[in-house]
This record gives sequence, C-alpha cells and structure tokens, in this order.
Amino acid sequence: MNAISKPSNGAYNIIDHTYDVVVVGAGGSGLRATLGMVASGLKTACITKVFPTRSHTVAAQGGIGASLGNMGEDNWRWHMYDTVKGSDWLGDQDAIEYMCREAVPAIYELEHFGVPFSRTEDGKIYQRPFGGHMKEYGKEPAQRACAAADRTGHAILHTLYQQCLKHDAEFFVEYFALDLIMDEEGVCRGVMAWCLEDGTIHRFRGQMVVLATGGYGRAYLSCTSAHTCTGDGGGMVIRAGLPVQDMEFVQFHPTGIFPAGCLITEGARGEGGYLTNSEGERFMERYAPTAKDLASRDVVSRSMTIEINEGRGVGANKDHILLHLEHLGADILHERLPGISETARVFAGVDVTKEPIPVLPTVHYNMGGIPTNYKAEVLRPTAENPDAVVPGLMAVGEAACVSVHGANRLGTNSLLDLVVFGRAAAHRAAEVVKPGATQAPLPAGAGEASLGRFDATRHAKGGTKVAELRDQLQRTMQSHAAVFRNSKSLTEGVQKMEKIWGGLKDINVTDQSLIWNSDLMEALELQNLMGNAVATMVGAEARKESRGAQAHDDYPDRDDHEWMKHTVATVAENGEVNLSYRPVKMQTLTNEVSVFPPKKRVY
Ligand SMILES: Cc1cc2nc3c(=O)[nH]c(=O)nc-3n(C[C@H](O)[C@H](O)[C@H](O)COP(=O)(O)OP(=O)(O)OC[C@H]3O[C@@H](n4cnc5c(N)ncnc54)[C@H](O)[C@@H]3O)c2cc1C
Repeated sequence: MNAISKPSNGAYNIIDHTYDVVVVGAGGSGLRATLGMVASGLKTACITKVFPTRSHTVAAQGGIGASLGNMGEDNWRWHMYDTVKGSDWLGDQDAIEYMCREAVPAIYELEHFGVPFSRTEDGKIYQRPFGGHMKEYGKEPAQRACAAADRTGHAILHTLYQQCLKHDAEFFVEYFALDLIMDEEGVCRGVMAWCLEDGTIHRFRGQMVVLATGGYGRAYLSCTSAHTCTGDGGGMVIRAGLPVQDMEFVQFHPTGIFPAGCLITEGARGEGGYLTNSEGERFMERYAPTAKDLASRDVVSRSMTIEINEGRGVGANKDHILLHLEHLGADILHERLPGISETARVFAGVDVTKEPIPVLPTVHYNMGGIPTNYKAEVLRPTAENPDAVVPGLMAVGEAACVSVHGANRLGTNSLLDLVVFGRAAAHRAAEVVKPGATQAPLPAGAGEASLGRFDATRHAKGGTKVAELRDQLQRTMQSHAAVFRNSKSLTEGVQKMEKIWGGLKDINVTDQSLIWNSDLMEALELQNLMGNAVATMVGAEARKESRGAQAHDDYPDRDDHEWMKHTVATVAENGEVNLSYRPVKMQTLTNEVSVFPPKKRVY
C-alpha cells in the first residue's frame, strides 16, 4: 500500500500513502475529528509535528462552555446570545446556534469518553463563571464553564488521544506537513510531509484533508501560546492561493503573567479574583458596572491598558496591573486553581495565598483563520457565491474561522469549538467520503513545487538568521497590531511588514541535514507565520472601525453599515495582500431561536 516512488526531482525519494481522510494536527480539534472519522469506518491518518498530547490544547486551563445548568438555571439561547454579543456581531449566527446547542451533547459525550471533570457535591459536572457568560440575555454572570480543576485542556486532550488509540487511528507523529496538494479543478487531493525523525518525504493522498493546525500566536513577541503555534495550516492555504478570513481580530488575554507572558486563566476571576491599579482601586467597576472583572476579554484588556496609559499602572515603571486571589483562601486555591498557583510561583515568584500576581494583556487567541461553514468545509468565496466550498478540504479548531467567535472570542468557547466542529467534520465526511473508494491518480508532479520550496529553504544561504527575522516580525506585530491601534501606526506596520517579507529571500539555514533539523523547521514555520501576519496587519489597516479586538483610536465606534462583514484575504507570493469581503450570516439554523440584531455592547 505504501509505495516508494523513484526520485522525481533527482534528490528526494517520496513515500506514498493513501487514506480516506488525512487529518493534519492532533490537538483537541484534530483528535476529535480523527476519532469521529475512524469511528465511522473511514481509514484515517493523523499527522502531527509534535506528540499528540503535547499540542497546545494541553495547556488550556479554565473550562469548556455548555449550558448544562448544573449550578443554576441556564439555556443554550442565553449562551448563543452571549456569543453573538461577545463576537461584537461579526460571528455567523447559524454557526453560533449550532455550537451552543451542540455544546450540551458534546460535553456529555466527553464525560462518557472519560474526561475527569471536577464535580459538585451531588456528583454533577462542576461549572464556574467566566467572562461574558451571563444569564437571561446579559443580566448576571452564569456558571457555564465545565472544568477539570484548572487543567481542563489536559484532561480533554489525553482522553481524546486514548479514545483514538482505542479505535486504532493511525498516527504519524513528528511529521511536519509542508503543503496541500491541489489538482487543476481546485480540489484538494492530499498533503506533502517531512518526517522529522528520519528525514524521509511523504505524500499522503486522501479523499478529504482536514487542517487542525492551531493558531499563530507566535507571530507576536509576547503570547500565551506554545512555540509550535505558527499558523502552518494558514500558511499552506495561503500558498495554495486560498483565502484566510478576519485575521485582524487577535485576542489579548487580560492576565498574562508580567513579564513572562504565561497565562493565568480567566477562571481565576471566575472564582472571585479581581484586578486593581496603583491606587488599589477595583477599576473594572468603572468600565463594566454589571460584569465587572468578568466582562469579555477585549473590554478588560482595553481597560487595563487605559489604566496603565493614564499612569495608574503598578511597579517601578507603572507598566502592569495586579490580580488578587489571596482572599479566596488556600483551600479553594488548592482545589480549584492548583495549576495557576504553581505557574505564579514559578514565573512570578508569588505565593498566591498571600500576595497578588503581576499581570499584563498578552496575545492569546486568533479569531481569524481559514474560512469554513458550520460543517467544517473550507470556503473559497467568490463575488457570485460567498459560500463556495473547496472540495476535499476541511479546517477545524483555532486554525479555522467558522465564524463563531467573530471579532472577539468568549473564554471556554474555543475548547467547545474544537469538539463541536471536530465532530461536525466527521459527520460531514461520513456523508461525502466513501470508505476505501478508489482515488484517481494524483496530478503529474504532485508535490514538486512544495519540495522545490523545501529544498530552496534547506539550502538558503543569505545573510539573515531565521531567529533575527522572526524577532523583527514579532516586534512589529506587537507594537503595530496591538490592543489599541491607529491609522499612523498601522500604515507604518504595513510598510515594515513589506520589508520583513522581503527578508525571507535573504535567510540563512546553516544545517542542511534532514534529520531533526530544527533550523530548517523554524525557517518553514517562519514562512507560515509571515503569511498569517501580513494578512493580519493589512486587514487591520483597512478596517476603519472599532469592533471586538480591533480597537481603532481614529475610528472609536463600531460601524455596522460599512463594516459588518468578514475580511477575506489572499496573499501573493511576493507578500502582496488582496482584500475582499463577505457578508456576516444574519440568519439562524432553525426557527427555535431568532436572530439577535446588533445593539450597543455593554457589560
Ligand atoms: C495557555 C492557554 C490556555 C487556554 N485555555 C483555554 C480554556 O480554558 N478554554 C478554552 O476554551 N480555550 C482555551 N484556550 C484556547 C484553546 O486552548 C486553543 O484555541 C485550542 O486548544 C487550539 O486547539 P487546536 O486543536 O486548534 O490546536 P492545537 O492544540 O494548537 O494543536 C495543533 C496541532 O497541529 C499540529 N501541527 C501544527 N502545524 C503542523 C504541521 N505543519 N505539520 C503537522 N502537524 C502540525 C500540532 O502538532 C498540534 O498537534 C487556551 C489557550 C492557551 C494558549
């Protein structure tokens, strides 16, 4: 079945594989998709550049949202309203309805798979409050975040991996996916990959490819995401000439530890933690009188930044804020927040039972990504059909933009997005993929362009170190596509990005080997980061309004008339970004709920 072809390009042997489905990525979304595919009888390969349980999902702390109502009344319609409002009316309401409804069965399914959730006294799944999640359409905080202490992602990822093994899913661990294989009709037919361990090159053919490669937080200097979050799926899609969507919306989490950047979960505020400025004031009461410290993330991050800019930051340089947990008592901290207690000790030298944690808004999540519908099918919008589907290609998880998070994601809705749309991808694949069907031969020279790029990068002999160029990229993103943006700084950001893109031609890769060559891998990851980053900067410069995570000083208001639309960006080989737009879905999936029309967003 696995054939070795003659070297077609004179240099590399290609090992061929054929599967019904090829999933790239083994985080929560990739594993949930893989599990669903194998369980419905599809022969599935899951390719991952890190060992599955080392994917960034393992670091998720606070919880996964679902209106189970275990700790007070709840309703999926309230969850849906909160998500639409959290998205600042850029989320697609059909997809949001789907996610919030499916949340409930998806969580019970996780419970039955064996996720060790924390429990209430009477044995139900424990649920804590989280930012932006409210009761009765915004009245008071709801307890909706299902949690396994503060290690929810860890619990989910390990359980899903075990379930995949139980179903005999085939894993290709420490394989780096390079590019999609597209045919002349624009159908995705497979992927190229490089085995990091033995240096071999692989060509995976499939009736369906699912990108589950996670976010691109590492385009920024200070972020909570793992070093592996380099937007490789976005990079592959961009090189295939396909678009990415809403990239300007980058979430800053209010409580990254100062200055290390590691995350303190919002669950800490859910359990009763609060923020203070240099005057000891609980300033969130001024900005969000109802939700206070549990307003949504964009609101809290902006409030903190304003406090610091107006001279009320703490520390010698007045450049951060304090998060208090000491009043919660050692017992609660030990039981519900053990992980972050340890993180605060290691990274800030703070004993959370006695003193506050120094914090600062830090890049945390990419709302933008590869556009899909709620069945996880990738879109290639055209003027005639904004919902046109790319046959053979799906995307799920943080790599995708469904769009359920719109301009700002609510906490706990990402873990939910992973399992709901991972599952949806498997449902859809079961409809369109025929197990074991004969696949047409790949187009002549399939994968050659990819190997050409791989080989050129491997032998790149310019004057710039990969780490230097990446540092320039990260610093530019950090200062020009920040919590607050303005026209001048964005215009400069676009100019700087053009120059940095040009730097790709001058990189230097010192190690030419094919085995465990981290130098080469980082160069390939930088190419991926670059595509995502340039689309982010150009998209932000073009959007003349403030909405969710895009806070534009020169256009402080949301402009629904002009800008209630998704940004669609393609990036040419020379780094030039082409923008178009597609409408936001203002319709629901069923008539069991009505559309939530836009209104002013206050917490
Ligand atoms: C510190 C932290 C805490 C968080 N806490 C929460 C929370 O409490 N609740 C919540 O809802 N959300 C939380 N989030 C967000 C959420 O965890 C992430 O958005 C989500 O886990 C992303 O999952 P994923 O499956 O999309 O990708 P990831 O988990 O990032 O996995 C990506 C996978 O793709 C593979 N991959 C990538 N590129 C390649 C390539 N080129 N070739 C082969 N494989 C590749 C990787 O090996 C990996 O397996 C948190 C995020 C962080 C950073």
